[in-house]
Amino acid sequence: MSELIVSGYAAKAVGRPLEPFAYRSPELGEQDVRVSITHCGVCHTDIHAIDNYYGIVNFPLVPGHEIVGYVAAVGSAVSELKIGDRVGIGWQGRSCMQCEWCLKGEEQLCQDIVPSGTWVPYGGFSTSVVVDGRFAYPLPPDMPSQVAAVLMCAGVTVYSPLRKYRIGPAQRIAIVGIGGLGHLAIQFAHALGCEVTAISSSPGKKNQALAYGADHFIDANDQASLGELDFRFDLLMCTASGGMSWEALLMTLKKRGTLVLLGFPDVALNSTDLVVHELSITGSFLGSRSTMREMLVFAENHGIAPEIELMPMSRVNEAILRVRENKARYRIVLENDAPAAGVTNVARARTTPAAATPARPG
Ligand SMILES: [Zn+2]
Ligand SMILES: [Zn+2]
Repeated sequence: MSELIVSGYAAKAVGRPLEPFAYRSPELGEQDVRVSITHCGVCHTDIHAIDNYYGIVNFPLVPGHEIVGYVAAVGSAVSELKIGDRVGIGWQGRSCMQCEWCLKGEEQLCQDIVPSGTWVPYGGFSTSVVVDGRFAYPLPPDMPSQVAAVLMCAGVTVYSPLRKYRIGPAQRIAIVGIGGLGHLAIQFAHALGCEVTAISSSPGKKNQALAYGADHFIDANDQASLGELDFRFDLLMCTASGGMSWEALLMTLKKRGTLVLLGFPDVALNSTDLVVHELSITGSFLGSRSTMREMLVFAENHGIAPEIELMPMSRVNEAILRVRENKARYRIVLENDAPAAGVTNVARARTTPAAATPARPG
């Protein structure tokens, strides 16, 4: 097999703007697929990775994990995908398939999660990516690629806890924060039939929240209005980051209610209400492969779609800046405008072989 060169955009060091970057495409393992990328969403997690917030990233880093593209090559053991299939790929591009969580079908909790990332060795802000084919999901034919891209991370991130906590009719849920995750969470929760309250520190988002399907809107800074919601919600889904009025928010939970954190907010609170009301605080991370497939069907059936700004991938740094400055409404998706999305033969690529030859993890 000839060597293949992939063109992408990489941060060469912590916090740096992305630069054009070429690398040799990894050899396909028997379960792997190579996907030619047409679209890739920009997620806050990409920016956290560029800033090495999690402390798990190797540089140069090609971020990008809300991927849509076409299967360009398949490994010898891939049976469910064929060349030309349109697929979506999220943050998780593989898993160990052997630990207790993988064996239970909860691959997002894989014990070996760090090398499971789609951006290992290099991610979706590029012409192609190699992942385990079991983590590349065939897309509903009528779903636009930019919509599917966002659903691959933001979509499953909000859908998974709604299913886990069996949110449905007769239940009351509050979505805290109306941004990339929050505006999708409102849509999914509404489609599941529950009573949805949007809580945001931006009163200007009220009409949008109602249009997405919220039944009520509360200004997070309006303590009097928050105070009227005591013991109201079965579930609080926090999609915001930064500090919150945690104690006021916890008071809005019913006894034995649950607060689910989806972003990475700073949490500091008095434990009294937590104990006395038997509350639960938990996190939720991505979703399993089966949840991903279910989410795609549900989103298609209910017409759930993120609000998207489309930009050419060559303007990736501008896109990242918009997300950093919280100006994106609500998700940015990059369209690949590389001359030939896909892979080119190394013999014709003007790249030195010294460009990293990535090793597959594990
Ligand atoms: Zn993400
Ligand atoms: Zn595992």
